[in-house]
Formats: sequence, C-alpha cells, structure tokens
Amino acid sequence: MGRDLSRKEFLSRTALLAAGAVLPRSAGATGSAAPGASQAKGSGVEADLIVVNARVFTSDSAQPRAEAFAVKDGRVLAVGRNADIRNVATARTRVFDAAGMTVTPGFIDAHCHPRGERVLFEVDGNLRSIAALKAAIAKKAAETPPGFWVNAYMFDDTKLSEGRPLHRRDLDEVAPNHPVSVNHRGGHTSWYNSAALRLAGVTRNTPDPEHGRFFRDADGEPNGRVAERARDVFASVGQRKRYTPDELRERARQGMRHMSRLLTASGLTTVHHMYAEQDDLTAYQDVRADGELRHRAYLMVGPNAYRQLRDAGVRTGMGDEWIRIGGTKRSADGSASERTMRMSTPYVGTDDYGILTMSQEEIHAEVDDAHSHGWQVGIHANGDVTIDMVLKAYERALARWPHPDRRHRIEHCSLVNSDLLRRIKATGTIPTPFWTYIYYHGEKWGEYGDDKMQHMFAHRSFLDTGIVVPGASDYGPGPFEPLMALQSMVTRRDFKGREWGANQKVTVDEALRIGTINGAHASYEEASKGSITAGKWADFVVLERDPHEVDPNTIKDIRIVQTTVGGKVVYPASGA
Ligand SMILES: [Zn+2]
Repeated sequence: MGRDLSRKEFLSRTALLAAGAVLPRSAGATGSAAPGASQAKGSGVEADLIVVNARVFTSDSAQPRAEAFAVKDGRVLAVGRNADIRNVATARTRVFDAAGMTVTPGFIDAHCHPRGERVLFEVDGNLRSIAALKAAIAKKAAETPPGFWVNAYMFDDTKLSEGRPLHRRDLDEVAPNHPVSVNHRGGHTSWYNSAALRLAGVTRNTPDPEHGRFFRDADGEPNGRVAERARDVFASVGQRKRYTPDELRERARQGMRHMSRLLTASGLTTVHHMYAEQDDLTAYQDVRADGELRHRAYLMVGPNAYRQLRDAGVRTGMGDEWIRIGGTKRSADGSASERTMRMSTPYVGTDDYGILTMSQEEIHAEVDDAHSHGWQVGIHANGDVTIDMVLKAYERALARWPHPDRRHRIEHCSLVNSDLLRRIKATGTIPTPFWTYIYYHGEKWGEYGDDKMQHMFAHRSFLDTGIVVPGASDYGPGPFEPLMALQSMVTRRDFKGREWGANQKVTVDEALRIGTINGAHASYEEASKGSITAGKWADFVVLERDPHEVDPNTIKDIRIVQTTVGGKVVYPASGA
C-alpha cells in the first residue's frame, strides 16, 4: 500500500472479520474475501488489541512480513502497516508497541510428552554427575520405606562429568534396601540397582528378550542398564506407593499446570501431546476448568485411550481449539538419543543394528484398525528399517481404504534415504524429526558417524522433497525450547560447536515456518492457526531480537518477551 488509507478504506480492503462472524478459512481457501467483511464497513468494528511497530514474520506466504496487526475476540482481525492498523483502534483498544521487536506466530511442537508430575514429585534426574544423582537418590530413599521403589527421571547418560557410565553399584551404594530405577530422558533405557535386579530375578543367566536387552559387564554380569521391553520384568516387582484416584488426579493436574507454564514461557502455544491416556485427558480438562491451561493441545492418544474412544465412535479431529483428539500413537523401534534405533547399517565400530519393538504384522494390524476407523496414526520409527516397515503399512492401508488427505505420521523419522523420502511424499505422510537434537545431544552423534548424520533429522531433505515437515522436540527426551530448535536446525551445530550433517541446514525463514504453519498442518489446523493471518487465532510470540539478525549460534539466547494465546497474554503470567 503506497499511502495511508482511511479507516473506512482499510476496513473494506483487508480481509477483515467482523465480530460475531469470525470463522476460520476452510482448508485450502486462499481468497481474500472473508466472512463478515461487508459488515466491517462503518464504525461497528474495533480491535481489542493492536500490535504496532513490530517486525512481524507471519508464516503466511501471501504476506510474509508486516509492521502491525489487530486482534478481536481472540483472532487476528487484520495485518498490515502501522498506520492502517491504528485505524481499527479506538480509545478502548489495548495497544502493544513492540518498539521494533520481532513477532512470530506462536510456536507449535508436533511431538511432546509434557508430564510434569514426574519431575515435581519423583527424583529429577536431569543432573550432570553421578555424584549429584547419587545424592538425589539417597535423599529420596531416606524418606521412602525400604522395599519401595525410588524412581529418577530425565537422566542423560552422556552428560556426566565423571566420564564413565552409571553402574548398578553406584545405586547400590546409596540405596541398598530399595529397588531403584534411573530412567533416561529418552524413555527407552533405564538403570536398575542390584535390589531391583534381584527382585526381578535377572541374573547373568537371564537371556535377552526379543525386543529388549540387559547390558552386561565384560564378565557377563548385568551392569544395570536395561533397554526397551527387557524392562517389562520390573513392572510387577517391589512395592510402589499407592495413590488414591483423587491423589493421582491431583498430581496430574499439578503436573499439567506446571508444564503449561513452562511451555508458554518458551514461546510454544500448541503442543501435540503424544501418548495421551485417560489421566492426561482428565488433567487437560481439570486445568482448563481452573483457567490455568495456557497452551493448546492436540492429543495423539495411546492404545488404551484409543480403544475406548474408537469404541465410543470418536475419531481424529473431535474437540475444540484448546483440547482436540488427534491421532493414535504407537512405537516400533528404539531411540535416537539412546542409540537403540533399528538401522540397516550398524552403529559405528559395532555389529549392533538397534532394536525393533513391533513386528511388521503388528504394525499392519494397528494401522489397519485405526485407519479404517477414521483415525490418523503416528508411529514412532527412527531407523531406516523401521520407517520402511511403517510406510509399507500406510501404503497398504491407503490402497485398501483410500483417503484424500489422511496425513498419517512417522514420529521422529530420523534416518532417511531417497526411496523413503519419495514414499513419504507419495503417501502424504508427515515426518516429525527432532528439532533440538543436533544442538542438545551432540555428544551422541559420533556413534552414528558423519555419513549417517547427513541423512538424519533431515529437515532440508524433507523441504526439498515438498514434504510439510513440522518441528518436534519429543520432550522429555529433547528440550522443548523452540529457539534452541531454530538454532539447531539453522546451524546444525551442537553445544560444543561441532557441525553435524551441514547439508541439512535450513534458513531462519524456513525454520520459522517449520515451527509454526507446518506444525498446524500436522494436526489439520492450518486454516485456524500457525500464521498471523486475518481470521486465525491470535497466537503469537514477541522476541526481544530478530533471529535473522543475531549470530545464528546465539538464537537460543533471544529473550521471550511475551507469549499470547487467543489474544490473551499467557506469559509473563499475571497473578500466577
Ligand atoms: Zn515421543
């Protein structure tokens, strides 16, 4: 626009949505005429909020950048130049002067496990030395009756200052009379002490089960590290504190409230909550009823909730803009960060190809059932072998029951090749590669080696193949902070500065789209969020500095000034 428009001209020329007639654009609609535009003429419309003097990166290719935008009834009313947007303000309109700061759409994490009660109420194992972990376990054991489990979470085996692995003997020293588990933040491996191994009857003569492993010392004795489904033997031994249903519900409520604050403080406004079960669904509704739900959630439900919801006639998409039933989640192989994913070539210097946790037939059965009942499916598959198996199931289901826009997902989809990329594109499948891992888990990538790292967390390859790849943290395994994710994807450098798979770098603009509009697409919600576009929810983040202009190696340090969801400031929290 070459000149400032009058209020009336501006209202009639923009895709302005009047109060009471605000609807999201239907999927794929690109027209500028929006419902209610004609009603916007005259003085009936006033913005609740205007944001001016901002560098707005909209993630909307029709209008990628703007200076200002207006919000009404929780939705974006108009996007444009300062003078134009000031035209929809009245004396009652709240004005946020961004003073040159950057505004982006709220970030979307397409794969997250935000369960706060473990770190709130159990041992927070996110520590940097065996000594610190031992002290935390000793403290918890002192307040726990002998024979009862002591459980630590969020442990990271490669970040220990001692430079040696954790061993069951470390745990025996501080808790000889309690079964102890130390659970890796990745969720696929755990360490147990001798009391736990004894209770479970695990000895040097115990064979590895088909879908798991007992790691051993050179002399054959179990060293305490146990992977994948070999951990099942610990589930029914030892004593566990019993909680009443009310206590469990209260723990989950507190955990969710805690996580919702942390997520929005980092700039996230939507998370795809993976493996949600009944207690998660209840926690979301409880926290929302308390007025404490700050982020929107798309629930990729676990097998138990899935079967009940399916039998009740629910399918993907039911819910509203805050809590929506998404797809159903399964897991078919090991972990990237814990080096157990199933690959066609071994880990560097070993003959270890990783671990499958589902057979091809099991994958087919789950996919056929969910697909034929109208559900989106997301299967965890990290290695190329596993990704191929999951794609076979999607290809077969889509051939049997064609669907124009099913968007099944491959959760993580870490190691790809050109054949897998082609089939992902052809089936409309959505990969959700880790977006903070290059930076955060750098000390682990040597076990994959430089060649494999050129095909891992392959954001560049997905974009170049025309695949709408979203961002995904997999918190707890990965940190959820979206600015760390932008830095990780843009620089492909780890926290020590080492570069991994430089061919997979993306630009800052591409990273912003991955973290916003592409995340909305993964949940079929691109018509209502993911960009700063008239008619969409006013979910946005104010950044103190422009990620395009800072040293890319410092993007993660940009301060989050404010996070807004549906036009309401959720960070900094008022009255929290
Ligand atoms: Zn996960």
